[in-house]
Amino acid sequence: MICVSITEATHQEALQAIERCAPAADAIELRMDLIAGGDLPQLVAAARCASNRIKVIVTCRRKEESLIPGAGVPVAKKNEMTKIAKMKLLKQAVAWGVDFIDIELAAGEKAIAQLQSFCRKQKSLTRIIVSWHDTSKTPSLTKLKEIFWSCVKTGADLVKIVPYACRMSDNLKVLSLIAYAKAQNRDIIAMCMGEEGKISRVMASQWGSHLGFAVLPGVKQSAPGQLTVQIMKQIEQLMKGSFHIARPVPAISDALTFVLLGNPVRHSLSPLMHNTALAAMKVEGHYSAFCVSDAGAAMAGIRGMNIRGASVTIPLKTEVMEYLDEIDADALALGAVNTIVNDSGKLIGYNTDWLGLMQALKNKISLSGKTFVIIGAGGTARAAAYGIKKEGGQPIIVNRNQEKGKALAAQFDCPFYPLADIGKVQADALINATSVGMYPQIHRSPVDAVIPANYQVVVDVIYNPLKTKLLRDAEAKGCRIFSGLEMFVHQGAEQLKLWTGREAPLALMKKTVRERLEKFES
Ligand code: NAP
Repeated sequence: MICVSITEATHQEALQAIERCAPAADAIELRMDLIAGGDLPQLVAAARCASNRIKVIVTCRRKEESLIPGAGVPVAKKNEMTKIAKMKLLKQAVAWGVDFIDIELAAGEKAIAQLQSFCRKQKSLTRIIVSWHDTSKTPSLTKLKEIFWSCVKTGADLVKIVPYACRMSDNLKVLSLIAYAKAQNRDIIAMCMGEEGKISRVMASQWGSHLGFAVLPGVKQSAPGQLTVQIMKQIEQLMKGSFHIARPVPAISDALTFVLLGNPVRHSLSPLMHNTALAAMKVEGHYSAFCVSDAGAAMAGIRGMNIRGASVTIPLKTEVMEYLDEIDADALALGAVNTIVNDSGKLIGYNTDWLGLMQALKNKISLSGKTFVIIGAGGTARAAAYGIKKEGGQPIIVNRNQEKGKALAAQFDCPFYPLADIGKVQADALINATSVGMYPQIHRSPVDAVIPANYQVVVDVIYNPLKTKLLRDAEAKGCRIFSGLEMFVHQGAEQLKLWTGREAPLALMKKTVRERLEKFES
């Protein structure tokens, strides 16, 4: 539905505007704060006369929520009204049987409750919109959700949330909010003001916003970035006719969708492993990989398309955190999320990399009181140090880049050695947490072939190839060796547990991935 705001400076001009927009608009909003000397009963009567299908909204916006600081937006001069006069006017609108009255959340619960009580006493069909505007910025999605719930708590029939877009990505926050509200079965009107917010005005109704706002050609905007009613109508037709935007629709089957998000993902074995597991678990669902460069858009897609779960890989593990509703304490401490659960529109982030590595290790050796050299200072090295500390072991960081290595060691209060000095280090086990030795560089190792002799156990996080040069060297020196396959399968099994609440078929997952890798290597 498209609503035209009537923002004319005088009563006469407002009457003319109502007549002009009646054929095109689905609703009109009488901005009584802008129409000087506006006679409400006459304006409502004019709207009813012009069209019997047009909905009428009566608004008397606070100055703080309608003027854009420094933006030079040509809104009409404010028709300042006291709080008492404003309440009187809104009650008059109810008595005249308008379809909606709009009152700001900032007016307070008491004022909103007064209007609700008045509607009840009048046995009125008028619905109350509780609105919130920010004329300077778009807050975080988490904050927008808080505001949404504050509006809902007032008993609003309809919530309206309109922040100011400073950048394109602000539109995604508002579209995500619409998807979120729809997932809670709540009606919402939401879009962004401002030039950068235009795209949200186009997309909002496709995503389920109850109304979109437009202006008549050549008429003052009531908020910056508004498009003309004709353009909005054309876009609406175009959307209906030629393509559909994903929107939160109720699931038509119980099939669950899972995705891998990262870049690159083409060679990932996660789809093979997860689809095999889902079939064995008799879970109706599918797991697919998507090459993604925009984390925000991907998160909006997960909400909008009701995707149950996602794996997140390089380079998005940190970036996605900005777009989640909740982050589990371990993932927060690690500063990385590799698993997302979509709990009815609420996105929760976890990290199963560290858990996967710990489970793989714990199955083979006891960690408590043991010392572990970790080569690397990236995300996997951090996951390893975190898990080892948690299990009562002692990590020692060894890295090529000394600054990064020292920073990681300081974070976990453990020793650091430059990679060139690894020969001087004494420990029980060695873990390679770098990508050195990964396919296609299968003849490379992060350390000289003699180094593994210093350790009883040597672990590689790499699983392609199954036996890296480091592991081959270590095996030749009589060490116990563990491939990254163990970690990969365990972190995947933990993901499935989070998404489905059930134990995953670990042995089958391991066999499937191992066979594919062996086939690849032969
Ligand atoms: P990352 O954040 O990019 O960190 C990579 C680390 O490797 C850095 O510390 C880097 O050292 C070091 N490095 C890279 N090239 C090197 C070289 N030529 N010589 C010495 N050090 C080198 O990567 P990540 O996310 O931690 O991933 C590391 C590996 O873990 C990848 O191979 C990934 O596939 C694997 N992984 C496996 C699993 C599993 O389930 N098995 C799960 C997650 C990750 P500098 O600091 O000196 O640059």
